Amino acid sequence: MTAYVPTAAGWSEGGPEEVADGIFRIPLPLPNDSLKAVNAYLWRGDEGDLLIDCGWVDPRSWEVLTSSLDRLGSGLKSIRHLFATHFHGDHLGAAGQIREAGGAFVTLGMGDRETARILATDPELARSRTRELLLRHGAGSVAEALEREAAANPRPPWLSPLPDLFIDGGELPFQGHELEVLPTPGHTRGHLCLWDGSAGILFAGDHVLPHITPSIGVEVPVGGLPLLHFLRSLEKVRDLPAQLVLPAHGPTFQDLAGRVDQLLHHHEQRLRLCLEAVAAGARTAMAVAQAVPWTRRERRFDELDTFNQMLAVNETVAHLDLLAERGELSLGRSELGVEFTTASGGS
Ligand SMILES: [Zn+2]
Repeated sequence: MTAYVPTAAGWSEGGPEEVADGIFRIPLPLPNDSLKAVNAYLWRGDEGDLLIDCGWVDPRSWEVLTSSLDRLGSGLKSIRHLFATHFHGDHLGAAGQIREAGGAFVTLGMGDRETARILATDPELARSRTRELLLRHGAGSVAEALEREAAANPRPPWLSPLPDLFIDGGELPFQGHELEVLPTPGHTRGHLCLWDGSAGILFAGDHVLPHITPSIGVEVPVGGLPLLHFLRSLEKVRDLPAQLVLPAHGPTFQDLAGRVDQLLHHHEQRLRLCLEAVAAGARTAMAVAQAVPWTRRERRFDELDTFNQMLAVNETVAHLDLLAERGELSLGRSELGVEFTTASGGS
């Protein structure tokens, strides 16, 4: 199989692009999202097509998806299998519509089962868990702002459907290729990549992105060590002999190991910054989040919008929990919630 030249600027616009023989990248617009677009990948097959991720439930995204399928000589009825890399709405959102319109079989990672079930059946529980996490980590002001904004501008309910099957690894034969399903927990517990060893192509979902670091720690059943899992999952894919990486956001790229090393380095740096913030007196995840810079532009916490403040607190919790797991911080509880101190006992 030929791996084509990676895409460059302007990845989020334009029609379907053939990125390897029979594999097309379809950028789908994301409403009100700084990520701009999510890449769905369509692999044409003799006995039906494979679609990897599918965009939000959104009329504009739907229009781009269906018109792109038309242009490729495919269609909703041609999609045999919809493989969602994880439960987030930009990856699984439109699955129900696609399944209804054409009968596609929808799969999702086993590790996302509990979160997907809660989001599909009890969105109120998902909201209250987020609120509890923020309160526990000193971020009551963020929780209040989220609620105020939700009341003023109610979002549509989570429409992602439950999949037909949860999978946890194994082989997926397609068009004479033995695709390997790679559990890569971190960005979500059930995140999956798809690896085509014969062609050296990695469908990377949100696990390895070329320009941004995937958010870590946003999960409904809170707890666990998402950053530890993410770092291990990065090591797991680092040395795959990839010729081409197909990410869910951003252009396709080739240097998998180089990008993985950048992400590993980024998180080690963030861990060090968090440790320094605690040593300087920040005790809660909220206080640490306020002390460290955010995004590639190094913005202050209070410059972020409320949703991104929530993500930032979550991400900080993930880093502090890993530092505690490594024995570099101690974790205690007070009436204020969870507090971190340097392991030596200083503030
Ligand atoms: Zn995601």
